[in-house]
Amino acid sequence: MIKVENLSKSFGKLDVLHNISTTIEKGDVVAIIGPSGSGKSTFLRCMNLLETPTQGRIWIDGEEITSKKTDIMKVRQKIGMVFQHFHLFPHKTVLQNLTYAPVQVKNVSKEQAEQKARELLTRVGLLDKADVYPSRLSGGQKQRVAIARSLAMEPEIMLFDEPTSALDPEMVKEVLEVMKSLAETGMTMAIVTHEMNFAREVADRICFLDGGRLVEDEAPETFFTAPKSERAKQFLEKML
Ligand code: ADP
Ligand code: MG
Repeated sequence: MIKVENLSKSFGKLDVLHNISTTIEKGDVVAIIGPSGSGKSTFLRCMNLLETPTQGRIWIDGEEITSKKTDIMKVRQKIGMVFQHFHLFPHKTVLQNLTYAPVQVKNVSKEQAEQKARELLTRVGLLDKADVYPSRLSGGQKQRVAIARSLAMEPEIMLFDEPTSALDPEMVKEVLEVMKSLAETGMTMAIVTHEMNFAREVADRICFLDGGRLVEDEAPETFFTAPKSERAKQFLEKML
């Protein structure tokens, strides 16, 4: 579903990603972990071209998105992204947050979009919040709305950048539960996270980044019980 080949990214003179290659199969859940500043967000953002790679190639569903011929907007429609800080539309209700893009971008009828939105709100346990504004929601509820809003576009891939890092501890679980149930539907997911238990339980693979290099790309069991690199060992000692 996603193939990354020799990806490098620099911001001016700062080399942030070094020659990363990996493949994410359809239905796979990949957790991207590593120290702060190791390039996790940049790596994720390259996958939907929110950042333009300096070198290397990326394919999504067989299409090379790093090719000049590619219609980036079309590619992005296939890929949902959820951020640490929700980014809901504050002046729209929860339901309107979910229907806006399908109606505007995909030309879905308002009725159809609303029906789908209600289904998705049911899935994330927030149907009763359909008509409230985001300011009335807790952080965990906002993030569940943000996930539902992404899903309203019917993406083939979901990218998550530290979706629980801005939440109070008691709200982390409800968001992880939604992500876990999404993983169980077979969604292809790449998740930057510091939630090690979640990564171990839900991910099919762990990508460990350090200093912009993909140091380990392993099954969770291998990574958490027998990390190969000294850097991963040190990181895990601090985290666990
Ligand atoms: P992580 O998500 O692992 O914390 P990031 O991908 O956000 O790491 O950042 C990796 C490095 O790239 C950091 O040194 C950061 O300061 C730098 N960086 C990220 N985005 C930009 C940008 N738009 N311009 C310049 N430097 C950036
Ligand atoms: Mg980051």
